[in-house]
Amino acid sequence: MFPYRIGYGYDVHRLVEGRRLWLCGVELKHSLGLLGHSDADVAIHALCDALLGAASLRDIGYHFPDSDAAYKGADSKLLLKEVCRLLRDKGYEIGNADVTIMAERPKINPHIPAMIKTLASVMQIDEEAISIKATTTERLGFTGREDGMAASAVALIYKSE
Ligand code: MG
Repeated sequence: MFPYRIGYGYDVHRLVEGRRLWLCGVELKHSLGLLGHSDADVAIHALCDALLGAASLRDIGYHFPDSDAAYKGADSKLLLKEVCRLLRDKGYEIGNADVTIMAERPKINPHIPAMIKTLASVMQIDEEAISIKATTTERLGFTGREDGMAASAVALIYKSE
């Protein structure tokens, strides 16, 4: 079988008051946070779905259902760690991943080096293998109105033998 596989992930979470804002495993200071059963780290969720998709391992909701109290308030870094374990159990290594965060505010660029460091450590891969990008949506749509944030990700995985 062809040894390289790609996967794509996409996620959205609502922005509300009174929640902390976690993106790519890093907490950002902001007046609003993302709402969800876990810590609602929309970027990690998109990345998990890209990795799972590449390995034909269903999706994040299948492995960590929001009906399960075990994942209430869960640190998404732990979900990502588990996803990487599932892939390695199936004989895959992670080649690289590229994540895009869509948010009007706050400014994400200053946090990207810390985010890359965090993801590389959780995923046990080189920092060079992770790319994180951020874009506004020009004040258009739900992200532009700051009703929510979206993230998409692609990942490449491979079998080394
Ligand atoms: Mg999610």
